[in-house]
Formats: sequence, structure tokens, C-alpha cells
Amino acid sequence: MTKFSDLKLSPKVLKAIDEAGYESPTPIQAGAIPPALEGRDVLGIAQTGTGKTASFTLPMITMLARGRARARMPRSLVLCPTRELAAQVAENFDTYAKHVKLTKALLIGGVSFKEQDTAIDKGVDVLIATPGRLLDHFERGKLILNDVKIMVVDEADRMLDMGFIPDIERIFGLTPFTRQTLFFSATMAPEIERITNTFLSNPERIEVARQATTNKNITQGVLMFKASRKDREATEKRKVLRALIDAEGDKCTNAIIFCNRKMDVDTVAKSLKKYGYDAAPIHGDLDQSQRTKTLDGFRAGDLRFLVASDVAARGLDVPAVSHVFNFDVPSHAEDYVHRIGRTGRAGRDGAAIMICSPRDEKNLADVEGLVQHEIPRLDNPLGGSKPSEEVAAKPADAAEKTEKPKRTRSRSRKSDDAPKPAETKADAQAEAPKAEASVEAKQPDDKPKSDSRSRSRSRDDNKQRDDHKQQNEKRDNNRSRNDNRGGRGGNDRGGNQVVGLGDHTPEFIELSFEDRPSN
Ligand code: AMP
Repeated sequence: MTKFSDLKLSPKVLKAIDEAGYESPTPIQAGAIPPALEGRDVLGIAQTGTGKTASFTLPMITMLARGRARARMPRSLVLCPTRELAAQVAENFDTYAKHVKLTKALLIGGVSFKEQDTAIDKGVDVLIATPGRLLDHFERGKLILNDVKIMVVDEADRMLDMGFIPDIERIFGLTPFTRQTLFFSATMAPEIERITNTFLSNPERIEVARQATTNKNITQGVLMFKASRKDREATEKRKVLRALIDAEGDKCTNAIIFCNRKMDVDTVAKSLKKYGYDAAPIHGDLDQSQRTKTLDGFRAGDLRFLVASDVAARGLDVPAVSHVFNFDVPSHAEDYVHRIGRTGRAGRDGAAIMICSPRDEKNLADVEGLVQHEIPRLDNPLGGSKPSEEVAAKPADAAEKTEKPKRTRSRSRKSDDAPKPAETKADAQAEAPKAEASVEAKQPDDKPKSDSRSRSRSRDDNKQRDDHKQQNEKRDNNRSRNDNRGGRGGNDRGGNQVVGLGDHTPEFIELSFEDRPSN
């Protein structure tokens, strides 16, 4: 087996590796470090968790140990798709370069330009940046890339997902043609292939097997969930999530809860908090200080539940995460691997639990295809062998089928009425399971509007969007009918007949409005 000492790394780097407690290089390290040290371009096809960060930081530190940077002219550049990943790469440099005199700067959004300008002005050996912020600095004339000798592109596939490829191409163009390029991607999409063909010169290609998705120390499970009614899906799904967390009991010391959409990240975090769970969100729209604070809290064990988007949590290295909950099945199967790889790290046991709605079933099939095994189906901790149905309130189902007009009427009323104080209070307090049930039953959602908005925006959910559209149209029709009735509101059973009755409302219609003021 290859040893670190076989890799021609500098003694100071080897010392730092030893202190980090690594015994032997991972396959991507063993494959990438030697050609990188020879000055060759490297194309590493590897995912996070494989040790790929050290596969470029270690040779970089060895190579950069000689020479000095000039003001505003970094000698090397590492591009990362997210601020978190960039910060993590910077931490890696700190760990492995602790016996070497190297300067570095981190250029990420959400942090003041001034501080970053000062660092660049002094001259840096390693510049770690997200593409947007790097170009901002460049355009402000604060940065010259003519002296970049080594350029690293980390997680290129994620750059592609995030629309950064044009920025990357531009940055390649700003650096010298003679630079050495170390390029990493988990997958080789055609666009990535094109970039590597254009900008890499005869690279050494190292492909490491996908991260062990069937990692034996991670227990996996999926709960098939079907809401009782579409308009209750969000609420019921969050209730199922809470039940799954509760069912894990003390085994769940901390967890990352992944959602596909940023909006859901916020809603789920808020909802969990409301029900007394120690949770906070992290996604790209939060400001950097907030993100850092949340992450630090999670790392330190002060925060139990981190609700995250894929991008924000990408590459996060928190050694002791007992559980990963997938609130949705990820739409890219590879993300499942990334997500569950946040638990069961460093030989620990882990659990990965997922909720699958009917519309996610295709994604689930893709995930199972990728990991090449069926993910065991879980019973719903709320009871019943068919989890989805048991959350589903049967009477509501029946009501929907047989009493549509009634439902429409009560909805249009609801939209006119102010929330009842009791609901608002229960909402604000958000406590015991009993209260939960009543809140959930009364209110289709904690934030019905934002949730339905986020669902209707979902690309893979056209049908649901159409349903919402129809419902909204119905509601709008009812509303306009009500308006035509001069604010008498309520009963739309009379439909158009009611319109135009003016003051001559028949007595039987008045009777049905006894509980409301009739103007
Ligand atoms: P990465 O794929 O770079 O995100 O690394 C994943 C994890 O593996 C990090 O926690 C590293 O500290 C750790 N790691 C990197 N190289 C080694 C190694 N040779 N032996 C053991 N752990 C490592």
C-alpha cells in the first residue's frame, strides 16, 4: 500500500499529515499527488469524502514552499462553488501548512471587500475564492491573475449546476496559459468534458470509485408518504419528519435535514423550532455571518438540527453527525450519496432516513439505481402499516370527494376571515403533540401561502401546479361572486343566481348567514 512518505511531499507537509493522524493516502491522493508534484495537469473524478481536498492542497503546499508572492498577484488560485466549501479548503491549508510559511486569503461573498483587499494587497501565495467574488475583485482592479502558477477548480459539477461555468471560463482566460491546472469533479457531464478539453493540457486522469454509498455503518431507510390532501401535504410531511426524529430518540444526537428547495429549508427549520426542536436553517440566501454562526454552532454541538440545502451543506465536514434526514428525495441521485455521506464518518455509525412523496418516486428509483440496492421501507412512526395513508385523514378524503362545494365555500370564507385568536396563539406557542394536532387540523399549513407557492414553482410538479391554479381560479371566482354580492360572502351554491338579487334577497338565503354580520 502507498504511504505518504512515498509521495515526495515535503518533510514539513508530512509532519502536518502525521499530526492530523492520517495513516495512508486515500486513492485520489495516491493518484493525484505524484503527477501534481511533477507539474502536470490533473483531472480528478472524485466526490467529497474521498480525501480530494488534501489531494490538491498537499502538493500545492509542497510546491509553493519556495518563492514569494507579490502584492495583488496571487501565486495560486483555488475556485470553489460555495462559501462553505471555500472556507473548508482554507481550513485544510491551515492544517497542512502549519509548518510552512505560506500566506492565503479567502475571497467569498458576504464578507467585506475591505478586509479582503487588505489581504490581497499584502500578496498571497494561495487565494481561495468563489468565482463571483473573485471576478468582483478583478473588476475593481484589485487583483492581477498574471502570476497564477497553479489553478484548482474544485467540484466543477456543482459549478455547472450553479451556473458558474461562464465565470470559470473567464477566469481561466485571465490566468497565464502556462499555469498548472488541477481540476476536480464528481461527474463528467458533457459541459465539464468540454471545459477540461479546452483548458487542461494532457491531464493525468484519476477516477476513484464513487463514495461507498452502501457504507455498511450507515443504516438507510425511506418512508413512503402520501398526504391526505394536496393542500395538507406540507404540514403532514413536516409532522412525519418530527415523528421520524422522535422515533430515533436519544440515538439522534444531531442531524442534518436536507430539503430540495431553499424555501422548504426555511419553512422546515421554522416549523421544527416552533415545535420545540433545536433547529436552524442554512442556505445560500442567508448572509455569511449567519451561515458561519449556524455552522459553528452545529459543529460545536450547540445546535442539534441543521436544516440545509445541498449547496450549502456540500462538502461540510462535521465528524460526528448521527443522522441525516432527507425531507425530499434529491432530484440528482448523486446528491443522495453526498447527503448521506454527512453521517457515519470516520468509522462511526450513522443513519440516513428519507421521506418519499408520490411525486418523488421517480427520483427514488434513480437513487436506488445509483446505489444499486433497494432502500428499506420504513413504517410510519405515527402508526399504521401504510404510513402515508395513516397521516391521511380519511374523513377529509371523503369530504373532498363528496362535498366539494362545501369545501370551496369554507375556503372562500376562510380567506375573508381574520385568523381566530386561538389558532394564532397555538401557532405561536407550538407546543405539545395535542396542540400540534389541533393546529395542523385547523390550518392546512403553518404558512400555507408560501408553501403552496414553493410547490407550484417546483419544476417537476406541473400537475400539482395545475391543480393549484384550478383551485385558485375557483377561489377567485368565488371571491368575485362574493364581491358582487356586496360583501354578503359565504354561500356560493346559488352561484350566478345570487348576483343581481340586490336588496331583494330571499329569506332562505339570509338564514344561511346567521353566524355572520349581514352588513
Ligand atoms: P474531502 O474529500 O477532502 O472532503 O475529505 C473528507 C475527509 O477525509 C476529511 O475529514 C479529511 O480530513 C479526511 N481525510 C483526508 N485525507 C485522509 C487520509 N489520508 N486519511 C484519513 N482521512 C483523511
